[in-house]
Amino acid sequence: MQALNITPGELPPECEALRAEVREFIAENLGDYPVSKRVRNWSGNDPEFSRKMAERGWIGMTWPKVFGGAERTSLERYVVLEELLSVGAPVGAHWVADRQSGPLLMRFSPDVLAPKIVPKIARGEAFFCIGMSEPDSGSDLASIRSKATLASNGWVINGRKVWTSNAHRTHYMIALLRTSERSENRHAGMSQFLIDMNTPGITVRPIVNQLGEHDFNEVTFDDVVVPHENLIGEEGGGWKQVGTELAFERSGPERYLSSSQLLLEMLDAADPANPRHTVALGRITAQYATLRQMSLGVALMLSRGESPALAAAAVKDQGALVEQAMPDIAHDLFGGLADPDSTLAQAMAYTALAVPSFSLRGGTREILRGIIAKGLDLR
Ligand SMILES: Cc1cc2nc3c(=O)[nH]c(=O)nc-3n(C[C@H](O)[C@H](O)[C@H](O)COP(=O)(O)OP(=O)(O)OC[C@H]3O[C@@H](n4cnc5c(N)ncnc54)[C@H](O)[C@@H]3O)c2cc1C
Repeated sequence: MQALNITPGELPPECEALRAEVREFIAENLGDYPVSKRVRNWSGNDPEFSRKMAERGWIGMTWPKVFGGAERTSLERYVVLEELLSVGAPVGAHWVADRQSGPLLMRFSPDVLAPKIVPKIARGEAFFCIGMSEPDSGSDLASIRSKATLASNGWVINGRKVWTSNAHRTHYMIALLRTSERSENRHAGMSQFLIDMNTPGITVRPIVNQLGEHDFNEVTFDDVVVPHENLIGEEGGGWKQVGTELAFERSGPERYLSSSQLLLEMLDAADPANPRHTVALGRITAQYATLRQMSLGVALMLSRGESPALAAAAVKDQGALVEQAMPDIAHDLFGGLADPDSTLAQAMAYTALAVPSFSLRGGTREILRGIIAKGLDLR
C-alpha cells in the first residue's frame, strides 16, 4: 500500500529576508485596507494592486527571465503568497494567470504562445479565467460538449461554460474543448485553447453568488474563431494537460488560508480568561499550524521537482474542513455578543456565506477523496 508522505521542513534564510520585504510592502499598500475587503481574500480583485506586485517582480516569480519572470525559487514564491493571503490582500486579478495559466503556456506552447502572452502576465497586464466546467459537466469533466472545429481560418468554437470566475474581468480564457467526437476512451478527443475574451461571438452573463456578488459567469461561444496557433499543446492531449493544470491549482497555501481573517478577528475578540475561548481557538490555531506544515511540505516537494498531487489534494481537503467549521465556532463563541457593525461580525457574516464553496471550487471533497484513495491504492 502507498503512504501519504508529507515531510515537514523549514524555509531557507533568504525566504525570511523576503518575508520582511513583503510585510513592508503590505504596510505601505494595505495599511488601511478594511476587514470588509480583507475577508474576500484571493477573491478580491484589484488590477492596480496586481500591477504593484508585478513591479516588485512578484507575479511569475519563478519563471525564466526570458518570459518576464524573476527566476526566484518556489519557496520564495510561497512566502510571498503566504504573507499576502494571511492579510487578505486583493490578489484575485492575476491569481489564475500566475498560478496556472502562465506555467501551462510555458510548458505546452513554449515557442508560440508563451513568448507572446507570458511576459504580459508577469507585467500584470494579462488576467486569465478557467473554462473547464459546463452546465452538465463539473466533477465529470470528461463529459464536456463544447467543441472546437478545425476550419481554414482557424478553430471555430461553439458551446457553453459555466461558473467561470472573473470571465467578465479577464483578458483570456484557457478552455478545455472537444476536438473530436466522444469515443470509448472517455479521455480522448479533448484539447486546450487560448481564447481572447474580446473575440466576437463570446457572451458573458453574470451568475450572482449567495453573497449577492458577481464573481462567476456563464460564457457562451457562438462560432467564435480563434487562430490555429491558439491550440495549446497537442490536439487530443487536453485531458492530460488539464491534470497538470489542476495540480498547480490545488497545491498552494490558498487552500487553507481563505478564512484567516475570521480567525484573526476571533483571536482579537477572545477573552483569555474564558476556557471555551482558549480551548476552541487553541484547537483551530493548532490545526492551522499543522496545515501550514503540510502545505509547506507540498511546497518543498515542488521545489525538489517531485509531483505532490496526492499531498496537495490532502491539504485542500483538510484545509476546507477546518475553514468550513470556523463560522459555526465563531457563532458559538461570540454570536450573541457581537456588535453587528464590528469587524468580527463582518468577518463572520461574510465567511459563513463564502465557506460552502471551498469544498466545491478546484474539485469537490468527494472527488479529492477519490484521488487520495486511488493514490493510496485503496480503490
Ligand atoms: C466559487 C467557485 C468558483 C468556480 N470557478 C470555476 C472556474 O473559474 N472555472 C470552472 O471551470 N469551474 C469553476 N467552478 C466550478 C467547479 O469546478 C465545479 O463546481 C466543481 O467541479 C463541481 O462540479 P458541479 O458543480 O457540476 O457539481 P457536480 O459534479 O454535479 O457534483 C455535485 C455533487 O456530487 C458529487 N459527485 C459528483 N461526482 C461524484 C463521484 N463520482 N463520486 C462521488 N461524488 C460525486 C460532488 O462531489 C458534489 O458533491 C467554480 C465553482 C465554485 C463554487
